Amino acid sequence: MRWRDMRGSGNIEDREGAGPPRGFGGAGFKLGGFGLVAVVAISLLLGLNPLDVIVSMQDGGAPTAPAPNAPSSPSAPAGARDETKEFVARVLGDTEDTWGKLFREMQGQYQAPRLVLFRGGVESACGMASSAVGPFYCSADQRVYLDRAFFEDLSQRFGAPGEFARAYVIAHEIGHHVQNLMGITDKVAQERQRAGGGARGNQLSVRLELQADCLAGVWGFYAKQRGLLEPGDVESGLGAAAAIGDDRIQRQTRGQVSPESFTHGSSEQRVRWFRAGLDSGQPRACDTFSAGAGTPRS
Ligand SMILES: [Zn+2]
Repeated sequence: MRWRDMRGSGNIEDREGAGPPRGFGGAGFKLGGFGLVAVVAISLLLGLNPLDVIVSMQDGGAPTAPAPNAPSSPSAPAGARDETKEFVARVLGDTEDTWGKLFREMQGQYQAPRLVLFRGGVESACGMASSAVGPFYCSADQRVYLDRAFFEDLSQRFGAPGEFARAYVIAHEIGHHVQNLMGITDKVAQERQRAGGGARGNQLSVRLELQADCLAGVWGFYAKQRGLLEPGDVESGLGAAAAIGDDRIQRQTRGQVSPESFTHGSSEQRVRWFRAGLDSGQPRACDTFSAGAGTPRS
């Protein structure tokens, strides 16, 4: 991916060295024993984790997960090149350019979110989060939170071909911001509240997540159009979408799959919706709520 050719965003906050969270604001959100296992397993496997939208849907609820309780790694020495930050800033800047243009076309105005890079733990308007929570978007403060260790780990495991996979993670969280600006997040949260959780609540969560995947694909379409993608990038993004499907994660963590407990969609659905955005470049191709059973209309 030719990320060095992208415009760097100034909307980054570095909370390096903020340390692990002092406590957990656990009100309103409980993570069951299995959920915990899944969170940790995913964090270990990919650093990705299915909590990122629960955060935005809990009214003031906090993402809670076990703190690793490890001391923060030392900051990079002054003057050292901070490649992670540069990468994130440029991908973020590119999403700002793309969504700025798309919102103008829809007679709207894109308000760019801020992105917080942290290590260990972080305090958000949605509560305290440890790095075990993974990347997430908090609608209350319109910020994307990214754990540095997660990104470095992803880079070490996947190397250069994983660049687009990492960009996809950022673009997915930005997709949640777009949903927030469009009022979709609130609507879904209200509907979830009416549904009282359970299978219906999970279905709504899946549709919201698949839409964020599709919106990430829309960003990818424009990155591709501007010649910023290299051979293998699309495959790397699709591979990431497949790797974080609920069915695959459930099979890995508990050896069986229960679709009614999906919160993000199956691998097949995630790939399909990411591709729906990537192939069309049209936000309106991302109507996961009208489409039957998570199937994009072609
Ligand atoms: Zn998400």
